[in-house]
Amino acid sequence: MGILNGIIVRTAPWMPKFIIGRIASVYVAGDKLEDGLKLSKLVNSKGFSATLDLLGEEVHNRTETNKVRDSYCELFEGITNFGIDCNVSLKLTALGLRINEELCWDNLSVVLDKAREYDNFVRLDMEDSSVTQATINMCMKAKDYYPKCGTVLQAYMRRTVDDIGSIVQEDRSHDTNLRLCKGAYKESSEIAYQGYQEVRDNYLDAARVMIKNEVYTGFATHDEWLINEIEALVEELGYSKDKYEFQALSGVPIDKTLERLRDKGHKVRYYIPYGPEWYAYSLRRMRENPDIWKYTLKAFLFRSKHRN
Ligand SMILES: Cc1cc2nc3c(=O)[nH]c(=O)nc-3n(C[C@H](O)[C@H](O)[C@H](O)COP(=O)(O)OP(=O)(O)OC[C@H]3O[C@@H](n4cnc5c(N)ncnc54)[C@H](O)[C@@H]3O)c2cc1C
Repeated sequence: MGILNGIIVRTAPWMPKFIIGRIASVYVAGDKLEDGLKLSKLVNSKGFSATLDLLGEEVHNRTETNKVRDSYCELFEGITNFGIDCNVSLKLTALGLRINEELCWDNLSVVLDKAREYDNFVRLDMEDSSVTQATINMCMKAKDYYPKCGTVLQAYMRRTVDDIGSIVQEDRSHDTNLRLCKGAYKESSEIAYQGYQEVRDNYLDAARVMIKNEVYTGFATHDEWLINEIEALVEELGYSKDKYEFQALSGVPIDKTLERLRDKGHKVRYYIPYGPEWYAYSLRRMRENPDIWKYTLKAFLFRSKHRN
């Protein structure tokens, strides 16, 4: 961690909440479910799909995980009532994955029941490497229970290309749906590529394998070089536009690129976080990955126009 990053991370908890709030407001839709639904409706009106993610903090017991589960159940109803093109992203640790896998499954199966009731799709976000295998296992179980779900693979992980093969093989729905991102956590060089170009190269290798296996892929990146390479790759391999989408975090100022993709007929989805836990969440993300500060400053100065 650089000296400046270290100072920022250590002082962040003492910064006035309104300053953290101003910063978080670049990405977070607001405290309430309605804030997330409204922003999703807005991005829909500009020709983009949405995925809503309820921000959560560390959960410590069954009661807290059940609260998260219930909020997700309300989210499906809200999406339907608002009549929006929006699916759902969630983190399994918020449903209790680190407490007990059985508890996590009990919660997840209730969420999947709601998703089935409202015919919606559920994405299981990928967290740090301590839960990579558990997340994949839970996803495979979830797919057997309700096929309209999928997880995320991270291009910085050395295991990712192998994971695609085993997920596709194990997926009895034969309708594998994965998001591909670079990866947001600090991981050791034993398990994760560290070089900037190395991660990009592995992203492209993984993308190629996903396409060859007919995986529906969400290409989640703001890296314009990578976006151009993906565009070239789908064209080279003749991958149909209904088999993939581009995804970006709402608030990241790459409006022009996303508009260009949209105008060329690519599906583009915004990832929109919302919820009352934004403060604790923002501090945690800064602790986990201090580089976020640099990005946040950029997003703060060059505001995305797709949020108002
Ligand atoms: C839709 C979506 C879902 C994701 N889901 C997961 C997940 O489940 N698990 C996981 O580990 N990670 C996830 N991520 C995060 C991802 O792994 C990366 O950490 C993050 O997207 C930055 O990588 P990048 O591909 O944008 O490339 P980078 O090289 O990091 O960024 C490229 C350029 O984009 C801009 N940029 C990137 N991020 C930001 C930002 N936050 N604010 C302002 N500018 C920015 C900067 O200009 C930067 O130079 C997700 C990302 C997206 C977009």
